[in-house]
Amino acid sequence: MSQLPQFLSLYRQLIAAPSVSALDPHWDTSNKAVIDLLADWCAQLGFTVTVNPLSTQPNKYNLLASYVPAGSSGGLLLAGHTDTVPWDEGRWSRDPFTLHEGDGKIYGLGAADMKGFFAFVLEALRDIDLKQLKKPLYILATADEETTMAGARELTAFAGLKPDFAVIGEPTSMTPVSSHKGHLTEAIRVTGRSGHSSNPAAGINAIEVMHEVITRLRELQRHFQKTYHNANFAVPYPTLNFGNIHGGDAANRICACCEMHIDLRPLPGMAMTELYGLIDERLAEVNAIYPNSVCLAHMHEPIPGYQCDPEADIVRVAEQLTGNNAEPANYCTEAPFVQALGCNTIIMGPGSIAQAHQPDEYIQVSEVKPALAQLQGLIRSLCLTI
Ligand SMILES: [Zn+2]
Repeated sequence: MSQLPQFLSLYRQLIAAPSVSALDPHWDTSNKAVIDLLADWCAQLGFTVTVNPLSTQPNKYNLLASYVPAGSSGGLLLAGHTDTVPWDEGRWSRDPFTLHEGDGKIYGLGAADMKGFFAFVLEALRDIDLKQLKKPLYILATADEETTMAGARELTAFAGLKPDFAVIGEPTSMTPVSSHKGHLTEAIRVTGRSGHSSNPAAGINAIEVMHEVITRLRELQRHFQKTYHNANFAVPYPTLNFGNIHGGDAANRICACCEMHIDLRPLPGMAMTELYGLIDERLAEVNAIYPNSVCLAHMHEPIPGYQCDPEADIVRVAEQLTGNNAEPANYCTEAPFVQALGCNTIIMGPGSIAQAHQPDEYIQVSEVKPALAQLQGLIRSLCLTI
């Protein structure tokens, strides 16, 4: 008989285990405490547990719990990230690490996004006899989704992991999400040469060079709009946003340095090399006029777009179980990395995305029973029948 704690106790312990990831080392913590809880509970349920430290950060871990019936392959992967964002000090009404139940809500940092999902998965499995499974069932818990997606970039470290289907339990109010655009943040740096403003020929004005860059990137925006189309999305083409620009220091000096930050949202299927190629072509035109003046730097590792096959069984099963049609999301997830394992992947979990990264984050108690039944339905449909 399993000693697995009750649902709310699972939830409480997950919330109480800090796992903030942040680029600021003041906030950043290891996710070890969450991994240890999951390793223990998954083992109690009969899973084989593998924990891998990240190659880039040895204090962060990915966990894979596997139950593979003899002679079977494929199966279902239930995935989530173990980390949370930092919390806004002073804006939470209570301690973010102490689960609180009240007003029909369960509050805590990660209640919706998304440590709570693991409590749902474990609770859903309480009533399922793993020995009855015909297909493999996996639980994947990753590190550092909220910052660099470093955990999701190391999934191939789990040798032989090749499920047929995956569900990433981000909070979608149990609506299947089957596509999203990618995301890149790039810095464009122009280096000119300063001089006295009275003689423009005495220097190279970085603001004027950046103007040339912007002119070409405006042309690239039009190229995106003309050339690419995916009717799945409300904005059906890739976007390029000029988000931040800074250059110069005084009106009477020729500006020597100018930096601009842009955000790009590629469509699913666009290779990162293709996208960088298009930008590099434009920057090369400017460098042909002003040699070695312009360079591009990645502000974070790119996240590709992703789209699940709309005919895939997992989309059909999830739509039937929840009564919700699959839709695109306007945020990024680990889905492109999970789908790269070779499995049709959807994003679907309890809690609302409106709650993610908010003070007093919660899920509705009324969501619990339906979400548990839907998760059990998914597991039964995809692992119990062939
Ligand atoms: Zn999340």
